[in-house]
Amino acid sequence: MSLQTEGIVVRFGGVTAVDNIALTVERGQIISVIGPNGSGKSTLFNAITGLVPTQQGTVKIDGTDISTAGTTARVRAGLARTFQTPRFDPQITVRTAITCGFYSTMNARLLPSMLRAPTTQRDEARAEAAYERIVESMGLTDLSDTLLGELPMGQVRLVEVARAIASQPGYLLLDEPAAGLSAAEQKILSKTIRDMAAENIGVLLVEHNFELVKNLADNVTVLNRGQLLARGTSSEIAQHPDVINVYLGGEANAA
Ligand code: ADP
Ligand code: MG
Repeated sequence: MSLQTEGIVVRFGGVTAVDNIALTVERGQIISVIGPNGSGKSTLFNAITGLVPTQQGTVKIDGTDISTAGTTARVRAGLARTFQTPRFDPQITVRTAITCGFYSTMNARLLPSMLRAPTTQRDEARAEAAYERIVESMGLTDLSDTLLGELPMGQVRLVEVARAIASQPGYLLLDEPAAGLSAAEQKILSKTIRDMAAENIGVLLVEHNFELVKNLADNVTVLNRGQLLARGTSSEIAQHPDVINVYLGGEANAA
């Protein structure tokens, strides 16, 4: 079972933001996409989740072509994502934010039975149990009643990841989840990503931070100006001359 893109092309006017990109994420794998700013990472995510139209290419989930499906249908098919810039309501609590994730797909999957009976106590108990498990494993339990607007950005990002996990996806797409996270929060994030892969979720990790990717990813795809620059294990990528030249070298120089 896999999430698979082939030949994805996304153009914005004269800019080809994603230029013929193929990518496969098997269930249980952690696949990373890295690249400089503007290399098309977020646009590739948006193409996979249906937020931007593609000019060419296909997206398949577990063998089903979802290239023309709407975003909701893609969520139902098993995709969950976080955004590079978190989108959240500052007035809701951590508990509400994460529980929303759980109900978002439960309702979708159980729609026929939901038409007969509104949310049952059993569903609520399941949601509650899942909630407790997620917040405990991510160290968010004590924040349950805190409003999102009162949290530092690092914790908002972790809550976003928790919400995505709560929807019990087959594939979890994280767009620069480590941006602005403290060292302790990055540890929680790394552990969470590993746990998800161990639970047979396919993880697609877009990151700017190669250090984080190095220890997590089974395979790394490097984009540059929308095109595939390199692909391989993190150690292959770390030594790849083109990658060092356009990306890692620049970062090392900047550091
Ligand atoms: P990354 O996530 O790797 O930083 P993006 O996917 O955000 O890169 O951007 C890739 C290219 O596409 C950039 O040149 C960016 O300006 C352009 N782009 C992204 N989204 C849009 C949009 N909605 N409209 C026009 N251009 C866009
Ligand atoms: Mg981006």
